[in-house]
Amino acid sequence: MKLTFEKQLATNYKSASQKARILTEQWVDNAIFCPNCGKLNIDKYPNNQPVADFYCSNCREEYELKSKQGVIGTKVVDGAYRTMLERLTSSNNPNFFLLNYDLSNLEVINFLVIPKHFFIPKIIEKRKPLAATVRRAGWVGCNILLQSILQTGKIFFIKNRQAEPKEKVLAEWQKTLFLREEREISAKGWLLDIMRSIEKLGKREFTLDDIYAFEKELSALHPDNKHIKDKIRQQLQVLRDRGYLDFMSRGYYRFT
Ligand SMILES: [Zn+2]
Repeated sequence: MKLTFEKQLATNYKSASQKARILTEQWVDNAIFCPNCGKLNIDKYPNNQPVADFYCSNCREEYELKSKQGVIGTKVVDGAYRTMLERLTSSNNPNFFLLNYDLSNLEVINFLVIPKHFFIPKIIEKRKPLAATVRRAGWVGCNILLQSILQTGKIFFIKNRQAEPKEKVLAEWQKTLFLREEREISAKGWLLDIMRSIEKLGKREFTLDDIYAFEKELSALHPDNKHIKDKIRQQLQVLRDRGYLDFMSRGYYRFT
């Protein structure tokens, strides 16, 4: 996989932001395969599509691209806050590509995909309305809070200038597809909260008691639920049934 942009493509463009858009879009168009079906190239929509920037002509997955020079940081600026919240509940919400590059040598530092099923209202931050003095006064944008997205929801194609194996990208994508079947935001929220607790443990094998230790924290997130431990067991069962976890023996689990 080539990790640098084709500099000469942007020579006819004046503004730095236009140049960056041309170079990054062109690179994604050529270098990136579809993480859902593995098709070698994804396709670019004509410019200014409201919904997404890229799509796969084989499986119809759609992708929005955000590019950023320098470090990734903890948040990414996105479009209108209200549009974003509406998108989260609709079926045509695209997946999210994040490209982070080095402007000095036009090299890709990181490229990752965040599958759309990791987008829940909790990761969207409302920004302050634009000041009355500007053209779009009162317009409210949003940030995507990257640190609020689970590790399993950040699938790297390129990490610190190193390409990851294609099979790994495809396997990581498949691993959490079951979240799409949870149409209800509260049901999905529970699964994501348990998945987050497992990530916080930071180990491959763990016990039921390890997860029970998050009882207080989970109770604060779900104050109406008076049976947190029962819920924890039930959610672990769901994650086992979906192949996200293995049960090794009674009360012992392994993250697959
Ligand atoms: Zn595809």
